[in-house]
Amino acid sequence: MEIRKLRLSGFKSFVEPAELRIEPGLTGVVGPNGCGKSNLLEAIRWVMGENSPKSMRSGGMEDVIFAGTATRPPRDFAEVVLHAADSEGEELNVTRRIERGAGSAYRVNGRDVRAKDVALVFADAATGAHSPALVSQGKIAQVIAAKPEERRMMLEEAAGIAGLHVRRRDAENRLKATERNLARLEDLMAGLD
Ligand code: ATP
Repeated sequence: MEIRKLRLSGFKSFVEPAELRIEPGLTGVVGPNGCGKSNLLEAIRWVMGENSPKSMRSGGMEDVIFAGTATRPPRDFAEVVLHAADSEGEELNVTRRIERGAGSAYRVNGRDVRAKDVALVFADAATGAHSPALVSQGKIAQVIAAKPEERRMMLEEAAGIAGLHVRRRDAENRLKATERNLARLEDLMAGLD
């Protein structure tokens, strides 16, 4: 998957709508401390479905919404749109929006979807909020000190098989539900004899 553009509105320090184009080759983001460089990487993770306060450097879900400054009132929502191209070069647009008191909503290519669908889209493309391709500050030291289990997860991501775990969990849950239904059915049939 190739990320081509990121659009933010009301997300953390990006109170005004902002657009970051990622052209072929190297894209650098420079600016003084605290200007929002790390917030851009967090926006990518967030639109991919990240909810962990630690990864988002926030206390709660709504903390990603522009909180206001001495001169600007807070915003009621935050929205991030990620424009990407899948492995076939097809356009993929993913939107996540959060409104105060209303939680998050996702869209893929303009269609309303569940968080789980977004996770699958990125998992199938061997990427996602936890992809080792997204390296935040201090992460290199963490990779070096990673436990074997964590290192295996990174290798699975790199090999493109991480998405299979999500599908396997899904299939196992469906299997368990079917087994429970079968047991109930057998009980009912025994009652009819
Ligand atoms: P450094 O170079 O020091 O790592 P940076 O350019 O990566 O800095 P970020 O850490 O991305 O900067 O941005 C931090 C800024 O974002 C801070 O000024 C902080 O006040 C602001 N910020 C974070 N969350 C919000 C929010 N919800 N509302 C308004 N501003 C926010």
